Amino acid sequence: MAGTLVSRFAPSPTGALHLGHAHSALLAWRRARAAGGRFLLRLEDIDTARCRAEFASAILDDLGWLGLDWDGPVRVQSAHLAEYGGALDRLRGRGLLYPCFCTRADIQRELAASAAAPHGPEGAAYPGTCRALLAAERDRRIAAGTPYALRLDMAVALGAVGRALYFHDETAGRVTADPAPFGDVVLARKDTPASYHLCVTHDDAAQGVTLVVRGVDLLAATHVHVLLQALMGWPTPAYAHHGLLADASGRRLAKRDRAAALRDLREAGRSPAEVRALAGWPD
Ligand code: GLU
Repeated sequence: MAGTLVSRFAPSPTGALHLGHAHSALLAWRRARAAGGRFLLRLEDIDTARCRAEFASAILDDLGWLGLDWDGPVRVQSAHLAEYGGALDRLRGRGLLYPCFCTRADIQRELAASAAAPHGPEGAAYPGTCRALLAAERDRRIAAGTPYALRLDMAVALGAVGRALYFHDETAGRVTADPAPFGDVVLARKDTPASYHLCVTHDDAAQGVTLVVRGVDLLAATHVHVLLQALMGWPTPAYAHHGLLADASGRRLAKRDRAAALRDLREAGRSPAEVRALAGWPD
């Protein structure tokens, strides 16, 4: 339906949900329900080294207990690897990706050796070592079975788009996207056939999400997401990057903070309404 607000909550099942997640999920859910729109749930579980099935089922259980309901089936990213592969093939076919054989140690060594490595929002940007490899050397390494990631050639990608990019954030307003400082971001990892940046933008488009609600810690990543949307012809949704909940000492809540885990609050006898209030959304 044109004009329908579609929001989503997209946790990674790498641990227990805490009050910070509840804050985000409740905001996305409330926005959809208030607008008569749709609220979707997506499990971002492509990082098989860190995601666990028991966390995934605990997430669904905790959200249901909290009083959230979602529309349609839960989208589980690990069931859609072929779709991400298709998107990567399209980018690769346009010469926007290159294989990167570097190990973390290779990258650290290269960065240490260069006087002024450019820094992006995710730390030092990749120095571009494998971008410069000759095609014959690339082919030789691939044929030899050397594992590789796929990186976006940022300069070529920006040139391919050839126009200024923007997104709208409900707090920050109209933001000019500046993905260049991220450098050649990884779109497929050696151990995982796709990366967060690729999967999240693919799925927001595939699911027709119109409002992305998530923590302000992901605001910087949005600069890359807007570029991928432009490259792939996917629409750019509106964004609502919200502030992060802190613990009593002012530290940002993390999965390790047991006191804030929804499961523990529930086992300590707190009601869903009390937990909604603790998460910043009193009824
Ligand atoms: N899966 C991401 C996380 O748990 C969130 C992705 C998003 O909301 O864009 O941090």
